[in-house]
Formats: sequence, C-alpha cells, structure tokens
Amino acid sequence: MRITALAGGIGGARFLRGLRAAVSPGDEITVIGNTGDDIHLYGLKVCPDLDTVMYTLGGGINEEQGWGRTGETWSIKEEMKAYGVGPEWFGLGDRDFATHIVRTQMLAAGYPLSAVTEALCARWQPGVRLLPMTDDRVETHVRITDADGPRVVHFQEYWVRLHAAVDAEAIVPVGADGAKPAPGVLEAIAGADVVVLPPSNPVVSIGTILAVPGIREAVAAAPGPVVGLSPIVGGAPVRGMADKVLAAVGVETTAAAVARHYGSRRSGGLLDGWLVDTADAASVDQVTAAGIACRAVPLLMTSVEATAEMARAALELAAEAAK
Ligand code: GDP
Ligand code: CA
Repeated sequence: MRITALAGGIGGARFLRGLRAAVSPGDEITVIGNTGDDIHLYGLKVCPDLDTVMYTLGGGINEEQGWGRTGETWSIKEEMKAYGVGPEWFGLGDRDFATHIVRTQMLAAGYPLSAVTEALCARWQPGVRLLPMTDDRVETHVRITDADGPRVVHFQEYWVRLHAAVDAEAIVPVGADGAKPAPGVLEAIAGADVVVLPPSNPVVSIGTILAVPGIREAVAAAPGPVVGLSPIVGGAPVRGMADKVLAAVGVETTAAAVARHYGSRRSGGLLDGWLVDTADAASVDQVTAAGIACRAVPLLMTSVEATAEMARAALELAAEAAK
C-alpha cells in the first residue's frame, strides 16, 4: 500500500511515527512537508517542520519539547549573544546548527531543497520518503496590530516570540502563489492508495501546503480516499495556538468546523473521511451531514502505540470510504 501524508511539525511528526508503526513492511509512506515555517537565521536556512519530522522519525528529537535535538547544548547561541547577535527568541542548539549548516551549504552549491532533504534523511533514515512541498521559497507571514501599530511579522516571530498573544488578522503564505510543487509531490498524491491529513495545524501547516498551486487540486482529485484526523479536541488545540490562526481564517475551533473547512470531496472539498476524538462524539452527525464519513476514536497521541491505533482507525475509515 502507498500512503501519502501532508505534515506540519510536531503534530504531523508524532502522527507519522504511529502511522509507520501501524503499516506493514512493504507499505510505502511519502510525506509532503510544510516549508512555510522556514526562516533564515544567522545566514542559515532553517526548515523547522521538515526537521521535526526528520528528527522525530529518525530518533533524534527532544521528546519533551517536541522540536530540536536530544542531548542538545547551546554554545553557539551563547557565543552569538556575546556578540550581540540575535534573535534570542529562537532556540537553535549546537547539534541542530549542524543540520542548518549542511542544508545551507548544499543550497548554496545549487542543490534544490528536495535533494538537500533527501541527503539529510540519508543520515536519519526516517523510514518514510520526506519531500518538501516545494523547492521554491515560501514564508508564512501574519498580519497583526499591536503597540507598534498594524504590521506583518514572520510566522516564527508570531508563534515563538509573541506566543500568538495578539490576534492574527490574516495569514499570508508569501511566495506560495508562484511556487511549484517539489519533484514527486503531485505524483505521490496521484499514486497514493490513501492520502492522509494528520492532526497538523489546518491553517499554517496543511493550509500552507495546499496553497502551493496544484497540490489542493491533486488532493481533491486523488484516485484514492482522503482521510484526516482532528487536531482539535474538545474545542481546543491539543497543543499550540491553532485557535488563533483558525480565527484569522474565520473557522471556529471545533473538530467539526475544521472538517467543514477542508470540505467534502463530494462538493469540491478534500475529505472522504474525518476522525474526531471521543470527546467530540456529539459532532459526528454534523460532519456526516456535511458529506464526510466520520467516526469518534481516542485521538490523543500519548504513546506510539496509541498513535498507531489512531493511524489504523484512519486507514480503516479510508478503506470504507473507498467502497
Ligand atoms: P507544528 O508545525 O509543530 O505546529 O505541528 P503541526 O502543525 O504538525 O501540528 C500542530 C497541531 O497538532 C496542533 O494544532 C495540535 O492541536 C495538534 N496535536 C498535538 N498533539 C496532538 C494529539 O495528541 N492529538 C491530536 N489530535 N492533535 C494533536
Ligand atoms: Ca510548523
């Protein structure tokens, strides 16, 4: 079986670890990763979501944090601070720096991001094929109004430095409209037996991937079923501040509203099936009424086995939707 998943950072990566545990040996998983969170820091190209997927599946992730490397040290950051060079709000450890140096060096030598990602994965052996959504530069920006007046900040500044404490007025994936899907992306969707939308952020992770021209259309037209899992449980994100960016696109923070936001494939949307948490069992009928097969199962990724069980439920729902 060939499974293609779209993924952001922590939510996507943790789900993929469960999916990998749930599938059979011959099955192939292709991951289309969000690169809208990418940022240039200290002259280096940092791809937070691709790295979170790579480190999580490769066994190098800091489990408690959910991002960055295990056993990390911070000498470079301290040295940069001694020079008065920031930003101080973004955590890049010494081990992590090596990844960004290799990436930046390869990009400067002319390799596209997709080739660089493949090279980095040769070390980490994530057990999936990890593709960036695009080789072109896309950066998600957020419009806010604060004490400095109306302005636009990089998504990382909004999320990491400002902790999404001010309302997001608009989310703009700068560069997306002119971007092309990376090599293999459209083929992975068209050739998949199942397309999965993990419980990643629907706006700034999955939404950004879908904003690359051709990707949304490919998912909508995928020959296999498309199923998703809700990142919203009991009316709130399990982790992070997805409510802030959902509000910016006019979507309520509920599992059912996110399903309607993706839409039913029967009416030009993306989903054949949607899993909500058992806490949201009451919304199953609403989602079904919107033309999306829906089931309530436990959706908390408390362990790899619990997450594998979620992945099995998603694949079962996909098999039923395909009938
Ligand atoms: P990011 O790029 O690191 O923000 O990660 P993603 O976009 O891939 O995932 C973020 C989303 O994961 C958030 O909206 C969380 O609500 C969701 N999430 C995190 N842990 C869990 C969990 O255990 N269960 C579910 N259903 N969602 C989760
Ligand atoms: Ca992210």
